[in-house]
Amino acid sequence: MHKLADYPIRPSYQQGESLGGFLSRHFCSNGHEIPKSLGDALAKLYKSKLLKDRIEAWDLLCKSVGTVPENYRRLWIEEQFTYSRPSFIGLDEHWQKPLTRQFRICPQCVKKFGFHLALWDLPFVLACPTHNKFLIGRCDCGKVLCWKELKPCWTCSCGSDLRQLSADPAPRSLVNTALSIAATAGFHVPDLLKQQTEKFRVADCLQSTYSIFSWLHLLLREMRTYEDDKAFGATPLPWRFGSVLSNWPGGLIRHIRHVITRWHQDEHDELMVHLPEKSRAKELLLLLRYALRTTAIPQNLREAIQTFVNDLDFKPLASNRWVLNPALTTSQREDKSREIQCWWGTLLDWMELSNMHVTQETKLHDDLDQNAIDISVKILNILSRAAADPTSAQRFRRFAKAWPPYPADAITRSPKDFIELLGHQLIGMSSSHREYLYELCLDAGEVKNAAR
Ligand SMILES: [Zn+2]
Ligand SMILES: [Zn+2]
Repeated sequence: MHKLADYPIRPSYQQGESLGGFLSRHFCSNGHEIPKSLGDALAKLYKSKLLKDRIEAWDLLCKSVGTVPENYRRLWIEEQFTYSRPSFIGLDEHWQKPLTRQFRICPQCVKKFGFHLALWDLPFVLACPTHNKFLIGRCDCGKVLCWKELKPCWTCSCGSDLRQLSADPAPRSLVNTALSIAATAGFHVPDLLKQQTEKFRVADCLQSTYSIFSWLHLLLREMRTYEDDKAFGATPLPWRFGSVLSNWPGGLIRHIRHVITRWHQDEHDELMVHLPEKSRAKELLLLLRYALRTTAIPQNLREAIQTFVNDLDFKPLASNRWVLNPALTTSQREDKSREIQCWWGTLLDWMELSNMHVTQETKLHDDLDQNAIDISVKILNILSRAAADPTSAQRFRRFAKAWPPYPADAITRSPKDFIELLGHQLIGMSSSHREYLYELCLDAGEVKNAAR
């Protein structure tokens, strides 16, 4: 049994120091390496899937070290953070694993503070948030840094002083990621101000921070393009999401808006778009809706997403399959909708009004949906183009007569409600009538020969 108290030099635990670092520092300052039994216990504590094994390892470490900081117990035993798999699909559980027998350092920090930070053990902390440099996991000789082979005075087995290693500047996104983690990890980082980390806080606790990261990973994977892939190549995941952590969560929403606009920029004169099965925008909206239902996602992020989704939402047949064109700004969408509503008023003489309510939920068969939505979107877009031309009403007489009776108060509704009402009616009618209306509006519209 190796007890720290039995060694002549007994360094005291430093606030924010890692457990592995503290053990190593103790043995190294007495001229030893970490004994194998303790090195094994440390690895087990960090990575064992069995709670029983982790508790056993913990007890052994506590006996040797004396008191160990409580936040370690919280992290590795109680919260079982390492293996609590976030409730997101498609991720292997190993992605959360912290470093085990190996370690990473910021040579400048080690030089200045003389110890290894607990923060550096956490997954995705690949940069020093104080010096904005990459953490180093390898000596210049090529050897991976490993507690059990570390020699006294931060010396590699090749003889190099690890504190003298030079680290490359880290990309801003990696530093952002480290700052986000530091904000909720509960580990002290000397020289790092609270205001610096708070700006990048994405959640209340560490676990939730990682849940957000795993969701972000899926989201950004959905949004990346072929060009992004070429540019990023095999770069690790945090490189991709760190950039959206600035001005959280507004920065993320702006990024999503930018990407989805780019996808639909060719349709910029349309009011509506039909999102086919497996389209990227549909997948993206599904992930956003998923976040709305997930309690691990903090309220502020859910609210920001809700606003974004509401903006595009087209209610009839809630399905993510037709949305208001994401390439249009909110006010452009409103203007176009209002334009149709005004223009619709000029068709009233030929239309049949009713006092009944239009049903809010319409059920269609899955195989019918695609065609029904496709035709409905085309009709709404033709109406939108026609509405821009005040002289077009006359040409739509037959169309107006064939349109089903609609609520007399429709014209006083908000523009969005009005357009949604038309959508409900289109989806609710028989497919033959819908086809017929489509023919009529192709005849009347200015796009008779266009293959729309
Ligand atoms: Zn540093
Ligand atoms: Zn070396």
